[in-house]
Amino acid sequence: MSDNCVFCMIKVRDIPSEFIYEDDRLFVIHDINPVAPVHLLIIPTQHMTNLDEKAFSQEVILGHMLSVAKDMAALVGLSESGFRIVINQGLDSGQEVEHLHMHLLGGRRLSSM
Ligand code: 5GP
Ligand code: ZN
Repeated sequence: MSDNCVFCMIKVRDIPSEFIYEDDRLFVIHDINPVAPVHLLIIPTQHMTNLDEKAFSQEVILGHMLSVAKDMAALVGLSESGFRIVINQGLDSGQEVEHLHMHLLGGRRLSSM
């Protein structure tokens, strides 16, 4: 738990949020400001600021996050239509919340990158 981290506060229910999925390593919530009909956040339970090349153990949680993101996409009916998974890191990406997370976006045609 990191002080003043919005995702850590959601994790301990200090900030209310509907949990779509939760296990011992991560949880999934709706983004409060969705940019697509489906906009979920996949968030590790353990606070980590972002992708850290020194943290080799991140390989495990990142793999689990991707796997759960794919399962969530299926759960909300995006398997056929498709979806996008995004991680923002640092200033140029516009990262707002400094607690590693994946965005799962879908439900409309997303602009090409
Ligand atoms: P970032 O730009 O850091 O990749 O994305 C952070 C995301 O967290 C944003 O899309 C923002 O809308 C979302 N967010 C920020 N505060 C809250 C909150 O209190 N609850 C939820 N559900 N999402 C939040
Ligand atoms: Zn945090």
